[in-house]
Amino acid sequence: METITENVKLLLSEVPEGVEIVAAAKTRKVEEILEVIDAGISKIGENYVQEAVAVHELVGEKAQWHFIGHLQSNKVVHVVPIFDMIETVDSAKLARKIDKYAKLNNKIMSILIEVNSGREPQKNGVMPEDVEQLIREIAPLSHIKLLGLMTMGPFTGDPEDARPYFVETRKIFSHIRDMNIPNVEMKFLSMGMSNSYKIAIEEGANIIRVGTKIFGERMCKFE
Ligand SMILES: *Cc1c(COP(=O)(O)O)cnc(C)c1O
Repeated sequence: METITENVKLLLSEVPEGVEIVAAAKTRKVEEILEVIDAGISKIGENYVQEAVAVHELVGEKAQWHFIGHLQSNKVVHVVPIFDMIETVDSAKLARKIDKYAKLNNKIMSILIEVNSGREPQKNGVMPEDVEQLIREIAPLSHIKLLGLMTMGPFTGDPEDARPYFVETRKIFSHIRDMNIPNVEMKFLSMGMSNSYKIAIEEGANIIRVGTKIFGERMCKFE
């Protein structure tokens, strides 16, 4: 089995310049995360607030922190101080809460809007047809910087199945960018995981979120 360091080196050699890798670190040990950082990936993605707080305490400023899980509004208070970007904003209510705590923390919080590109009822994210309206509601918030879109896409096991959803998200991204909405900078498109990042990059992703391919299989399965 390859080591984490070898996995990171391989990934870094494969991924074109301009594409950022977020190491999706849910359930991983601090030592594993530190190995990833030493090997050359400095962006760490976390899904669970409690876990993130604990890991952040030990790893801290060595990394930039991306929140990539479902964010409950009562957890915003813990997330805003330690994260550099929240990738999963999908409602104006959540955004207003983030804005409020960002202001209290004297920071401008970078966010992405999560798009439910597969229109899956059980999944988080805003429906593709509602993205523009949501962005127009969030844009005026003074302590939020809206920097792009994120999507998961349906998971079938065959990464090629994800391509149409990446394409659709990319179209929304370009469409919003071309509107030049004040305080909105369509800079980042976060799509693709271990099995699908190559396809996501082909379709315009410039952030990929990779867990298994860096750390190995997770002991317990999360979606
Ligand atoms: C776990 C996770 C990933 C990475 O998944 P892998 O298949 O392990 O690469 C990416 N994005 C999100 C939101 C995740 O929760």
